[in-house]
Amino acid sequence: MENRSPSLREKVKQLRRTFVDKLPGTLAEARRLCDLLVRVPSDDSTLDDLYRTFHSIKGTAASFGLLEISAEGAGGEQLVLQLQGLEGGSRGQQLPALLPGFQQRLERLEELWKLARQADESNSSPESPSFDLGKEGAKAASKKLFICDDDEAQAEILAAQLSCFGYGVTIFTSPDSMRAALLVAPPDAVIMDIVFPGGVNGTDVVANLHREMRAPPPVVFVSSRRDFEPRLRAVQAGGEAYFPKPVKAIELVEILDSLTLGQEPEPFRVLVVDDEPEVAAYHSFILEQVGMTTRLLHEPATILDVLTEFKPDLVLMDMYMPTCTGRDLSRLIRQVPEFISLPIVFLSSETNKVKQVSALRVGAEGFLTKPIQPEDLISAVAIRAERMRTLRSLMVRDSLTGLFNHTFMSQFLETSLASARRDDGMLCFVMIDVDHFKQVNDTYGHPAGDQVLVALARLLQQRLRNSDMVGRYGGEEFAVILQDIGTDEARRIVDDLRADFAKVRFTAGDGDFSCTFSAGIAGYPGKAQADLLLESADQALYVAKKSGRNQVQVAP
Ligand code: GH3
Ligand code: MG
Ligand code: MG
Repeated sequence: MENRSPSLREKVKQLRRTFVDKLPGTLAEARRLCDLLVRVPSDDSTLDDLYRTFHSIKGTAASFGLLEISAEGAGGEQLVLQLQGLEGGSRGQQLPALLPGFQQRLERLEELWKLARQADESNSSPESPSFDLGKEGAKAASKKLFICDDDEAQAEILAAQLSCFGYGVTIFTSPDSMRAALLVAPPDAVIMDIVFPGGVNGTDVVANLHREMRAPPPVVFVSSRRDFEPRLRAVQAGGEAYFPKPVKAIELVEILDSLTLGQEPEPFRVLVVDDEPEVAAYHSFILEQVGMTTRLLHEPATILDVLTEFKPDLVLMDMYMPTCTGRDLSRLIRQVPEFISLPIVFLSSETNKVKQVSALRVGAEGFLTKPIQPEDLISAVAIRAERMRTLRSLMVRDSLTGLFNHTFMSQFLETSLASARRDDGMLCFVMIDVDHFKQVNDTYGHPAGDQVLVALARLLQQRLRNSDMVGRYGGEEFAVILQDIGTDEARRIVDDLRADFAKVRFTAGDGDFSCTFSAGIAGYPGKAQADLLLESADQALYVAKKSGRNQVQVAP
């Protein structure tokens, strides 16, 4: 299969070469540790270091298909284990008997290293694991929509509404012109009229597209006909939905969101913790090939910062590292309330079941053994990350709008403030409240009110950046945390949203109506504490309400 990125095989080859190049250094280190051991046999930390050195040779070599090297590493590991089982005194006595074993292994490793290097040079290195990665998931920038309708005025009204929700819309008045544009650069979805002048039928056009293209974009039909026949033809042509005209933009947005979001879920984020850069790079490469986002961490001391900033869905954790064990690191992570439910999966060449169980007892989600087949790694990670996403969303999201709830937003404000303080950054806290919302409920009914809340939620979510957090703060109040911007820019952004929200038409019964909102903004570093930000944004909102609503105010 053609792939623009280097193939897994190529990448593994590179990483294996790095490992092989570094092996003499590793062996020299093992020798140095052996000498140290002879001088001070009772020193536990020397033994620990020696254990880790052999253990990582065993694991890393196996990942790269260097099985003989791995076996010698395992042999060295066994010798260290024997010594570790002895008390300080008898260790000194046993050492002379065991030392030749270490020497032999190191010499053998040296020979194997030469062979591995020659094999690399002559390009006859062992087969690395390979697997079918499927097609690369390209990430589209913003969402493109085509509307094909001979009634241009109506199409333009709809396009204006949809653009409020962040869709870039192109209008075509004839199916032929749309087909041409679509074959060149397909949009994320198509909204298709059915009855065109001259007897042209929209369902036929779409059915043809399905014959011409391997993966045509999803199509939503809109038509003035409400009867059975066109609906049936729409389904048969592969339409995803059917809306009788006049179309409610809000309903359309809901289905379009699900059609276009469903194609590209946010990639899973995996933090790979391993002190061996090649091993970490190898595992992360496998995960990235199937579209996951990864971050490598070699230095355990930075883990809390990295967790806060990278926000992984899962941590893939090595067991043995120089500064601390994976087990300790997991316990440390679990002691931070925010990360109490973060899945941690051990990936280690540790095959001792007792040690595996003890690792799991600190709350790890699973134990995978190196070397692992790429497919197994991918599925183990994907299943757990998915479950975590579901759980997390149940805990932190509001059920009506799907936005973050009050509790989560408060927590998030604290963590955002902490990182803004550390990086000398900025952020803005925005409070939004729908104007005269009680009146909307009273006049049009509670369901119509709900429709307004859902629409505002979608508008905020669609239009703000991924790094901005949008929450439902209560009833008809929303909160937004805008990262890295000052109050002037925040005012412009929120005011644009305000103007667009006012343009959205809602329908209730036979009539339709629109709504407005008022907003208050407070910014860090102007307001240095979370409670001060909240209070100031709330006061600014109050001023906006007092001064006539449908406006944005910044706290002084
Ligand atoms: P103001 O412009 O001053 O904000 O006036 P308002 O009417 O929007 O403010 P008020 O706080 O008096 O009324 C808020 C209303 O929001 C009252 C409540 O019934 C309604 N509400 C709260 N939660 C929901 C909800 O989930 N769905 C619906 N439909 N209405 C809700
Ligand atoms: Mg209100
Ligand atoms: Mg209110």
